[in-house]
Amino acid sequence: MSKIRIIGVKKVYEGEKKVLALDNVNMEIKENEFAVIVGPSGCGKSTLLSLIAGFEKPTEGKILLDGKEVDKPAPDRGFVFQDFALYPWRTVLKNTTFGLELKGVTKEEARKQAMRYIKMVGLEGFEEVYPHTLSGGMKQRVAIARALAYEPEVLLMDEPFGSLDAQTRKLMQMELIRIWGKTKRTVVFVTHSVIEAVYLADKVFVMTARPGKVKGIVEIDIPRPRDYTDERFLMIREKILSLLQEEVEKSQKIKQSME
Ligand code: ADP
Ligand code: MG
Repeated sequence: MSKIRIIGVKKVYEGEKKVLALDNVNMEIKENEFAVIVGPSGCGKSTLLSLIAGFEKPTEGKILLDGKEVDKPAPDRGFVFQDFALYPWRTVLKNTTFGLELKGVTKEEARKQAMRYIKMVGLEGFEEVYPHTLSGGMKQRVAIARALAYEPEVLLMDEPFGSLDAQTRKLMQMELIRIWGKTKRTVVFVTHSVIEAVYLADKVFVMTARPGKVKGIVEIDIPRPRDYTDERFLMIREKILSLLQEEVEKSQKIKQSME
């Protein structure tokens, strides 16, 4: 069954200069599917996630979640931003229970649920510390625990590992697949990294340069956990890279002509 349907979505930003960010985007994402979106910088990936989240509305077309049109944010969708956006005045535990409290879950239940995810992301023992004492990778894990803890049906992740060092990033990819494998839900994950896409995805949407459209869809059925050096892994990576290459060149031309 399709969980998310994106139908003919166009997004124009009206401002001093009109920006056509997305043009006729069509996507279908199934329940429990791990979908990854890759595309050149500025092609509208974050815009698309924010439309799915309901923070903004499409100029044309529509987004259906379980067959119902998305028109505002709701707790059925969790969001992990690239910058950590933790509350500095709240402990790890209090950061993680935040969404649950908003949902009206009792204190005791919120704590129990939060602890389950804090353990899952490997931060047991850090519940009572404040974010400033944590490394970047640990903060990011808190953000992920927080998003997972209120058990959204759909998890939207916008380059969540973009600012992590290579080692931590690999760990987080493994961790995320482990958690997703245990708690199955629908994920829409944006990344710049093709390797990350092939490691994570059931389905990769490759987008064109701005205005963003779907250029190609690559389905990946390599069993998990995946091996970066596996022959099939490398073949799929090549396929996505060649789809992207053209678009990256196009987007650089657009940039140059603007300079
Ligand atoms: P990506 O995430 O793929 O790098 P974005 O979705 O952030 O791309 O942006 C797509 C295009 O829309 C860019 O040209 C960007 O400058 C423009 N854009 C994004 N958000 C806004 C906004 N709030 N107002 C005006 N233009 C925007
Ligand atoms: Mg972005």
